[in-house]
Amino acid sequence: DQDEDKLKEYMDELEFLAYTAGATVEKRFTQKLSQPDSRTFVGSGKAEEIKNYVKENEIGTVIFDDELSPSQLKNLERELEVKILDRTNLILDIFAQRAQTSYARTQVELAQYEYLLPRLTRMWTHLERQRGGIGMRGPGETEIETDRRIIRDRISLLKEKLKTIDKQMATQRNNRGKMVRAALVGYTNVGKSTLMNTLSKSEVFAENKLFATLDTTVRKVVIGNLPFLLTDTVGFIRKLPTQLVESFKSTLDEVRESDLLIHVVDISHESFEDHIASVNQILQEIDAHRKPMIMVFNKIDDFRYEKKDEDDLTPATRKNISLEEWMKTWMGKSKYPTVFISALTKENFPEMKRMIYDEVMKIHISRFPYND
Ligand code: GDP
Repeated sequence: DQDEDKLKEYMDELEFLAYTAGATVEKRFTQKLSQPDSRTFVGSGKAEEIKNYVKENEIGTVIFDDELSPSQLKNLERELEVKILDRTNLILDIFAQRAQTSYARTQVELAQYEYLLPRLTRMWTHLERQRGGIGMRGPGETEIETDRRIIRDRISLLKEKLKTIDKQMATQRNNRGKMVRAALVGYTNVGKSTLMNTLSKSEVFAENKLFATLDTTVRKVVIGNLPFLLTDTVGFIRKLPTQLVESFKSTLDEVRESDLLIHVVDISHESFEDHIASVNQILQEIDAHRKPMIMVFNKIDDFRYEKKDEDDLTPATRKNISLEEWMKTWMGKSKYPTVFISALTKENFPEMKRMIYDEVMKIHISRFPYND
């Protein structure tokens, strides 16, 4: 059943996010509803079921795979008597843990405050409960208002700060001169950092967790005497919180202003086709979809893809598939130059390098038509 498969994928991804944030997942709950319950997101029966499980197994946190409205969050927290996280909150948390530069930290802080602002009352309800309430009146609306104002001020300040850094980064980009700029794009965890490392022989943080790359890194790469700049961008992800899309604007500027996109795909992932679609959609949103692109299908060493049509490979798990055979699959038939590699074993690296060289050279020649 296709719906079931999708559901499992989504839950797998959420579990992976939770793991990245440092949590272990004990149990999954799913429910089919025509639309989410406006009060508690899940129905009351399901809420009861979760509550019982949480009590019996001393679970600390319940995570929802969607952004909950402020009131849903409040209601759930009260009814389940446990810490509630939604997808947005979880992603923000991961970004906060991993932000390395002051720029990324500012972006995440801004996104967190924007998330917090409409949910501010919740914090106070908590505090009231802790105080026990006897003889103590909870903080009134005025105090919440004061707090809101402080946060709003902070938000304006952070926005100003980002504007200043944005300008600096734009100047930096201008100062890089006329060298061709290529950007690695792709879903999160597909192997962009690994590829960046091998191509530039630098050490960019790569690990099997989502969002290992938060900050954009730019490296000079030389292939066959031809130097160009290579950018490693933040991994794209399904349902990226809107607060983050806005605050990661200049990360995306790197993509928008690059000359060539190297779209990396993890074909060992069961939903890699969805990932390609998500990435293309974001590229379209930032108006970068008409740029020259190279498709790099990565992780062929870990291939578990099932045959989808007559042209496709059989049997699915066969090892040592030649590049020629790969090119005969539907993946090899895109309008973009395409290559199949393993960033780990470096299989088909010469072919990939030649392809990048050719594309960079084309752009280079169009830019310096009178040089050798
Ligand atoms: P990014 O989020 O796109 O930058 O992905 P990373 O470069 O951090 O890689 C994510 C994970 O995939 C890491 O654990 C890598 O070691 C692993 N990985 C990268 N390339 C390959 C590959 O070709 N084959 C296999 N099996 N794993 C890979």
